[in-house]
Amino acid sequence: MRTVAVVGASLAGLSAARSLRKQGYDGRLVVIGDEPHRPYDRPPLSKEFLAGAIGEADLALETDGEDLQAEWLLGMRAAGFDPGDRALKLADGRSVRADGVVIATGATARMLPGGDGLAGVHTLRTLDDARALRADLAEGGRLVVIGGGFIGAEVASTAYGLGLDVTVVEAAPTPLAGPLGELMGGVVSTLHADHGVRLLCGVGVKGLSGTARVEAVLLEDGRCLPADTVVVGVGARPCVEWLDGCGVVLDNGVKCGADGRTSVSGLVAVGDCASWYDPVAGVHRRVEHWTGARERPDAAVAALLSGGAATPGVPKPPYFWSDQYGVRIQFAGHSAGADSVTVEEGLPDDRSFLAVYRRSGHPVAVLGMNQPRLFTRWRKQLSASTF
Ligand SMILES: Cc1cc2nc3c(=O)[nH]c(=O)nc-3n(C[C@H](O)[C@H](O)[C@H](O)COP(=O)(O)OP(=O)(O)OC[C@H]3O[C@@H](n4cnc5c(N)ncnc54)[C@H](O)[C@@H]3O)c2cc1C
Repeated sequence: MRTVAVVGASLAGLSAARSLRKQGYDGRLVVIGDEPHRPYDRPPLSKEFLAGAIGEADLALETDGEDLQAEWLLGMRAAGFDPGDRALKLADGRSVRADGVVIATGATARMLPGGDGLAGVHTLRTLDDARALRADLAEGGRLVVIGGGFIGAEVASTAYGLGLDVTVVEAAPTPLAGPLGELMGGVVSTLHADHGVRLLCGVGVKGLSGTARVEAVLLEDGRCLPADTVVVGVGARPCVEWLDGCGVVLDNGVKCGADGRTSVSGLVAVGDCASWYDPVAGVHRRVEHWTGARERPDAAVAALLSGGAATPGVPKPPYFWSDQYGVRIQFAGHSAGADSVTVEEGLPDDRSFLAVYRRSGHPVAVLGMNQPRLFTRWRKQLSASTF
């Protein structure tokens, strides 16, 4: 291969570029990213960065002096791929011919209809989003967070720490029921009440009111929540529209094999935009977690450089963490399909416990709240067993 292009200059893209060099690729390497920034870390955007505890320089993903001998095209969107010419089309009309392409375009935050264009209404995905939200939170006042998932909960926690009056609205009966199941989702979300943050569940949002700036969130049950700032945390969708019509099969992201290869030869996909086949469960899964975006590029790059001859290992159970109200939440595995969940250590009421999810008696997932050591032991055990 003489030219490899990585599309998406964030965690998965940088990890892929590093893997390419680590695995001996010494040809031309082009990294294309539509944000103007060098790769930066997103998890702190809802935590330490939003709180003002760290600055932008602290978000850098590259190490001091790191040089991957790559051409960086930043502030440049990839607009398509021509499989005939094997050329990436760029938004400015130029193209980059590439023998190999790593698709690492991540995901973008969903906005509520009517939310765009109203000052004070935010989503949180990028550094620019975080800068804007941080400026609004610094004004204090009332924050309404729409969506009680991890990002919504972290923003609520950070805003509480900054002294804002915070309400979280969640359409489902329990926040986090998807990733954690209803029982544990309910347990984790008690953290809001512990800190005087109002959590309204089982009610949808009808709309936002305000003229130039948001003034209130209108709920479907008729209630009206006055708001100075609103954060919409209702999930993300994979950034894959640019691949429409080029032959890459898309299905909730880029559909990939167990090694990241796509339906088009010489193209692999990694990170939040990629839906990899899980050979143990026999399904495709798109996982939106930091650790997968960091680790999976090794296997995808091996597949790319070997033309698919490299054998991918058994996938590790997905892992994520979340920090809320000074509590570390960690989760590994898949809760869907579990038929029991038991607290093995500690007490939920103490906000320090470890719970194990089992299917037919076999552990399939583990949840820890302020139990990092025990959690790490269980996570290793989970990785060692095919679950
Ligand atoms: C606020 C926040 C907090 C988080 N906290 C946690 C946490 O605590 N724990 C955890 O496990 N995970 C967390 N995550 C998730 C984690 O950050 C993501 O899983 C990770 O960033 C995914 O990396 P990625 O490179 O696949 O995608 P992204 O980081 O989304 O990067 C994709 C890049 O590609 C660019 N791009 C998109 N389309 C194009 C195009 N056509 N051309 C060129 N470039 C393009 C995007 O602009 C972006 O820069 C958090 C995410 C956010 C947003």
